[in-house]
Amino acid sequence: LDLRFDESAKNLIANISSKFDPVYWRDIYRSKKFPNEYWQAIARSGLFGILLAKKWGGMERKFSDFVLAVEETAERYAGIASYLFLSGSLVTTIIASNATEEQKQELLPKLAKGELKISLALGEEISGLDATSIETKASKISDEIFELNGTKTFVNNVDQADYLIVFARTTPIEKVEKKSLGISMFLIDAKDPAIKRTELDKVGMDFVRNFNLKLDGLQVKRSQSIGELEKGWYNVLQSFNMDRVATSASLVGTGKLALNQASKWAKERKVFQKVIGSNQGIQFPLANAYAELETSWIMTLKASTIADAGKNYANEANYSLLTASNSAMLATDRALQTFGGHGYYKEYDVERYWRDVRVHKIHPISEELLLASISERALGLPRSY
Ligand SMILES: Cc1cc2nc3c(=O)[nH]c(=O)nc-3n(C[C@H](O)[C@H](O)[C@H](O)COP(=O)(O)OP(=O)(O)OC[C@H]3O[C@@H](n4cnc5c(N)ncnc54)[C@H](O)[C@@H]3O)c2cc1C
Repeated sequence: LDLRFDESAKNLIANISSKFDPVYWRDIYRSKKFPNEYWQAIARSGLFGILLAKKWGGMERKFSDFVLAVEETAERYAGIASYLFLSGSLVTTIIASNATEEQKQELLPKLAKGELKISLALGEEISGLDATSIETKASKISDEIFELNGTKTFVNNVDQADYLIVFARTTPIEKVEKKSLGISMFLIDAKDPAIKRTELDKVGMDFVRNFNLKLDGLQVKRSQSIGELEKGWYNVLQSFNMDRVATSASLVGTGKLALNQASKWAKERKVFQKVIGSNQGIQFPLANAYAELETSWIMTLKASTIADAGKNYANEANYSLLTASNSAMLATDRALQTFGGHGYYKEYDVERYWRDVRVHKIHPISEELLLASISERALGLPRSY
């Protein structure tokens, strides 16, 4: 495992992210505003195009450069809000590897400049984490037009999005050879009046709003489909693996952010006439969490290095997300404990790191499904999902 990485993208985002300090993020979380200033600063730097070919206005950098940059922006105060950099960059890979030349010309330069936002609408109440059991239908009503009917759950950032990539069945599940077939992707105007949305209140990630959607007679042109019809599931698998690794980087960065703040507090806060950080009861849990974060970081770097070598890294993507979500939970929990009662109040920030990292034991895939996959692929146990 060669750990000599090009750190220029990481340094670029470090520069940008440092300008958005904890006070900025506290205000975003309090007001539940979209962090437009952070988004625009990344957009101006061109970093949304970090993974994109130069001909589309991208930086054409390695995946590991991107992973380093995600970790850095999370640690430099964005925490799990690094999701915005992460998803804004990864969506370019879905378009670049699936869209037609015409779609690429229209979308990619704007995505690289952060001028467009695209959200993914895959999950449904009926399917839950069994994503290929979705029931939203795309019925062909002429050679050129499909009509979409169905629902989508928990979709991020719909209010800000210009487009949604909606996954829908073009062939019913009972008529396909295996259930991962018959699913297609469509690029839909997020403001289409045939989409009714209901906002959801959630535990954390207050920088982004989430919605349930009802698609009622939504007409789309065939030219709005992204990638080969019927193979939508296979068209995004690569990007889903990238998402798991980049999410791990975001978790490691958030865990370190929490530990940095807890260590600073532990060096300053005096109780019983001495700083609390001089007690091993405070030091050891922080040190243990730090070691766990470093361990998951090595797995994240390993996964990204294998990806850059063009080899299959699906297993490593699973190991990295499993270990990073656990270590970030541990780190944020111990950071909150170090702050004591102060940690429970919003002005000390650690409570939001703790709330935020929790989501990644469920999304983009749950801990149980990661373990089920590891049981099957690494241990040869019967498939349980
Ligand atoms: C904040 C947030 C943002 C999201 N954003 C998006 C988005 O932008 N777009 C999108 O499409 N989706 C999004 N999702 C959806 C997400 O990816 C999951 O599909 C969804 O959270 C699954 O929730 P569920 O309640 O349906 O879980 P369920 O599928 O009902 O699972 C419930 C529990 O059962 C467990 N379980 C299920 N099957 C098994 C099994 N075989 N073995 C062991 N355990 C099992 C699960 O691991 C889980 O713990 C988001 C979710 C959240 C929370």
